[in-house]
Amino acid sequence: MTLLEAKGLSIVFPTSRGEVKAVDQVDISLGEREFVGIAGESGAGKSTLALGMLRLLTPPGKVVAGEVLFHGTDILKLTDEQFRKDYRWTKLAMVFQGSMNGFTPVFTIGSQLKEVLALHGREASDSTISKLLETVDLDNSIASRYPHELSGGQKQRAFIAMALSLEPEVLVTDEPTTALDVITQATIINLLKRLRKELGISVLLITHDLALISEAVERLYVMYAGGVVEEGPSIDFFAKPKHPYSQGLLTSTPTLTSNEIKGIPGFLPDLANLPPGCRFTPRCPFAMEVCKRDYPPLKGVGGERVACWLY
Ligand code: SF4
Repeated sequence: MTLLEAKGLSIVFPTSRGEVKAVDQVDISLGEREFVGIAGESGAGKSTLALGMLRLLTPPGKVVAGEVLFHGTDILKLTDEQFRKDYRWTKLAMVFQGSMNGFTPVFTIGSQLKEVLALHGREASDSTISKLLETVDLDNSIASRYPHELSGGQKQRAFIAMALSLEPEVLVTDEPTTALDVITQATIINLLKRLRKELGISVLLITHDLALISEAVERLYVMYAGGVVEEGPSIDFFAKPKHPYSQGLLTSTPTLTSNEIKGIPGFLPDLANLPPGCRFTPRCPFAMEVCKRDYPPLKGVGGERVACWLY
């Protein structure tokens, strides 16, 4: 059953050069207990989409179209007070990009976790903190330590514990493994997989690193220049990606059998001056006349949905 869903969501940033369309008519959904990934290069609109869905956009960014349904309620229509009281962190929580550096350096991890619980009227005892830390495989001694005394992986786990402290139904994680070594990256992804199963939560994982999530997510969205270009079960996607951009993303990743990295020539288009047709046209080896003229809609191809005139 669908838990969280964005329908036709568009987000713009007004600039002196006109409106930058960071997210353009995006439809995405997250089911109960589902682990879904959003992939794409920097600037594709992944983080902006997540911030918009959780009402965390800061001005001048604004949602100009669409709705975000949580259990069928359009949360964009709620007042700030209703959303803060009944949804933010209690039902929808987020681990932000770079969040492991978000702890206040002069307070211990335990006191910062207690502050979150107390602010929301929850029990903030030593045993609650101990249980929270245990949930993310951290020793109780972490509670009395300061952020600078923890490794990057420990800080990221502590921040995940903070995001879980009010027992949300949805956890959105934005590049949770950035700046961590590969072993620690794998343990963070395994932790998210375990938490999803044990706590029964739904996880939306945003990343540019396809290799990292290839075995973690059940379903995957690929974003390019503010739009979704491919969506489907990850097993189908990784066996045979259909959109030329997805194929390029995969050939930009080293594999166990090959060191060859092809990359994708060129850059993202100017989001303040988007071309009328497919936004990948200037970089696509298969571009045709129709691609320059008409924007390809997402349509069913096998078990996936793909936005490309090749299909
Ligand atoms: Fe390439 Fe055309 Fe498909 Fe866009 S629509 S990805 S330009 S083939």
